[in-house]
Amino acid sequence: MRLSEIYNGKNAPVFSFEVFPPKGENPDKKMENLFCELKTLAEQKPALISVTYGAGGSNRDTSLEIIKELNNRLKQPVMPHFTCVCSSREYIKKYIEEIESLGILNILALRGDEPQDIDVCYRDFKSALELIEYLKNFSELEFSVAAYPEKHPKAQSLEDDIDVLKKKCDLGAKVAFTQLFFKNENYYKFFDKCIKKGIDIPIIPGVLPVASFSQLSRIVELSGTQIETKTVEYFEKYKDSKEDTIKAGIDFASGQCQKLLEFGAEGIHFYTLNKALSSCEVIKNITS
Ligand code: FAD
Repeated sequence: MRLSEIYNGKNAPVFSFEVFPPKGENPDKKMENLFCELKTLAEQKPALISVTYGAGGSNRDTSLEIIKELNNRLKQPVMPHFTCVCSSREYIKKYIEEIESLGILNILALRGDEPQDIDVCYRDFKSALELIEYLKNFSELEFSVAAYPEKHPKAQSLEDDIDVLKKKCDLGAKVAFTQLFFKNENYYKFFDKCIKKGIDIPIIPGVLPVASFSQLSRIVELSGTQIETKTVEYFEKYKDSKEDTIKAGIDFASGQCQKLLEFGAEGIHFYTLNKALSSCEVIKNITS
């Protein structure tokens, strides 16, 4: 189904999962593990499983392998992410045509962050807006976009971010998926500001069920996500037990998702970090 059919207001709550191409040592083993997790995620019958894409095409082949596993073998609705930074117009056209030839209907259109270790960086595109304008010339894909309830780390202001989101919306974005956050109040305020700007597409909150304290600290540091001291303390209590941290993460995310849905969010986008258990448990908790 196309994004406009999935997020048509009648299917709420719409659940989607995000996975990424594994990195580092033992790539074959990691892919094998990921494919097992994908099977479990597929059992939830998600509306979409999205697959991240390294800026500059750094993990293009692994990303495609996961897309094909989901699309061809597991028959899952896949939404590839696509970043334009450092890529040439020709490269992008070829890649998008390859995606479309697989029968995929939707993508998440992104700018991406310029990688440090790239040999050749094309300057054909500076923003997601430019990518979207280009795609519309030759592609039938429906596209979603990124949104930042706590402001993009490099943006001048939240208002600038919202202006950019409005432009993405005017260019035909069907849905926005947010950066992960832990403070629902920031999403509520952001959503209200978006409505005032005339942004009328679903803004789907991104939720990460925490599974490890060190991972939480790393993510907060890297993404600039705001986190309250009481939330840090909540997870810190369990940091010596993996099992207890996972359980605490499921409880926290279940409460968070429940409130987001009560607020009116049309769905939840789960940052799974390639593990099915927590997101599936959260869905069970909030739908039972
Ligand atoms: P744009 O929409 O072009 O810009 C986003 C906002 O950032 C704008 O509102 C603008 O105000 C501000 N901004 C950006 N850059 C600057 C700057 N230099 N100076 C001032 N303001 C600036 N990254 C990946 O590499 N691969 C992925 O698969 C991926 N998936 C993502 C999925 C989601 C749901 C989200 C929220 C992010 C994802 N990202 C991914 C991260 C994203 O690529 C980065 O946040 C990137 O910096 C911005 O991409 P964008 O498409 O939002 O860019």
